[in-house]
Formats: sequence, C-alpha cells, structure tokens
Amino acid sequence: MIIENFKGLDRPLINTISDNLKKEFGQKTIKLSIDAGFTCPNRDGNKGVGGCIFCSESGSGDMASSGDNIAEVIDKQIEILSEKWPNAKYIAYFQSHTNTYAPVSILRKKYYEALSDPRISGLAIATRPDCIGDDVIDLLSELNKRTFLWVELGLQTIHPPSSEFINRCYDLDVYEEAAQKLHHSGIKFVTHLILGLPGESREDMVESVRYVCQSGVWGIKLHLLNITKNSRLAATHSDYMPFDSVDDYVQFVCDLLEIIPSDIVIHRMTADAPRKTLISPPWSYKKRSILNGIYHELSRRGSFQGCKSN
Ligand code: SF4
Repeated sequence: MIIENFKGLDRPLINTISDNLKKEFGQKTIKLSIDAGFTCPNRDGNKGVGGCIFCSESGSGDMASSGDNIAEVIDKQIEILSEKWPNAKYIAYFQSHTNTYAPVSILRKKYYEALSDPRISGLAIATRPDCIGDDVIDLLSELNKRTFLWVELGLQTIHPPSSEFINRCYDLDVYEEAAQKLHHSGIKFVTHLILGLPGESREDMVESVRYVCQSGVWGIKLHLLNITKNSRLAATHSDYMPFDSVDDYVQFVCDLLEIIPSDIVIHRMTADAPRKTLISPPWSYKKRSILNGIYHELSRRGSFQGCKSN
C-alpha cells in the first residue's frame, strides 16, 4: 500500500500501526493472516447461529491462509508476501473466526507453534470479548511477557439496536469487562468498529468511537461497512450504500480521527473485502484512493489525529 509522502510535516498526521511496527522492529513488519481452524460461538449455536450479519463465510478472514499445521500456513503466507517485501518481519495474525474459542491447551499449542518460527516477531489474536475467560487471560499474559502481542475485539457498535441488528450476541457490559481485564493485565488490545451500519447516524458512530477511546484501548480499527457476497447482509441489503461517495466517507473518517487521541494506534481506516466478493459500496475496493484522500483532507484542514480530542 503506497501512501503519498506526508513525512515532511512537523508531526505525523495519523498514528498508524505500520509506523508503530516499524519503530518497534526497525523495519517493515507485516501481518500474516492465519485461519487456524477455529469456529465461532456465534455460528455453532453456543451464543448464536448464522454469525454476525456482515461476516463472510471465512469468518472475516478473507485474505487468510488456512490449515491445521500453523507452520505450513505461515510458510504459505510468507511465500505470498515476500516477493513484494523480501526483508520484512512478520506478525502471526490469528484472524479468521474466534481465535480464543477452544480449550487453552489447544490455544497454547497453536500460538507457540507460530512463535517457534524464527521469522515471527509477534502475535495478533482476533476474538470476541465473551471468549476471554480467566484461563485465557493467564495464557495471554504469559505470551505478553515473551513476545509483542495484541488482542483484537470485534465490538462494531455500542448501540443495542445495532448490535441486535447485526446479531452480535453479546452485550456492551461483556466488552467492558473484557476490556478491563486486558487493560489491567497490561495486554494491548484493539477494538473494531463498523462505520455505516444501517440505522446508525453520524452521531451514533461518533458516540461509539468516543466510548471505545475511553475503554483502555491501545488501538482502533475503523471498518467501512462492506456488503459482501454470501454474507447474511447481502440477502437483505444488497443495494444499501453506507456513505454517498468516497469523499463523503473520507470527510467522516477525518472528523473521527480528529477526536481520537493521538496515542491510540490506528490499525484500519477503511475495508478491504476482495473485489470479487464485494457488492457495496462499489468504490470500497479503491483502498489506496481512500487512504490518500484521508491524508490529503487532514492536510487540507491543517488538522491531525487527536487535534479535537480534549
Ligand atoms: S464474532 Fe466474528 S467470526 Fe463470529 S460471526 Fe461475528 S464477525 Fe464472524
């Protein structure tokens, strides 16, 4: 992803994950998307069935390589990525489905299998807040001592009508409890929010962002709602446009960045559903244009992340 160069400025416009990883590891560091064979309690009937309505068949891990053997999955991903970035370091990103939804002995085996590869410099683990019991916290704390670790929580919205609409199947206090546990254990975590859910106003989304920023997060992911083929949302909202245009979306993301404190790491500002599965918005695959548009707009405004966060 080439972002136009805004580095001559006095300060970074956005506190990005790529800059953070480069500072931490001294060189380009890339996430390897792994489908480690987990499922999700929102699919198997434990918490719900059918999954969140925006979730793809791959459990929101469309770029992930899958397999029971983590070493092979890592090899496969590095083979794909090393052509473009031959000298990169790597984070093993357990992305698809719910990556703490298994007995701790199985989790331990999979995470350590990834860490045993000398090319892996850290772990990122995506999960649900209702799958972080005390035994999982103990394991994460252990990993946190020996590697660069972060956990990702799919919250998407703080508003109950929206969480019901998306079939998230847990309440906000469950997030609050998990966030506190992770924060008190010194484990970095990143919260996902979706921008453009049907029925949500701009003010609703601003409220979600403000709430998350005060929940102890290390990072935040802002996902543009994508309607993708084979998701449940596609059956009912295939024509739905979450934002009128790229510019409309860019303007709103800049408004949000201005209120997000500058110490919170921005992991995502748009979406990246593969073009072949994308239904709406049709311009969403233009990731580079969207990201460049965000940098240009902040620059045009003379603003930056956190400039209105107090
Ligand atoms: S919790 Fe995550 S993996 Fe499970 S259905 Fe929702 S988005 Fe998909």
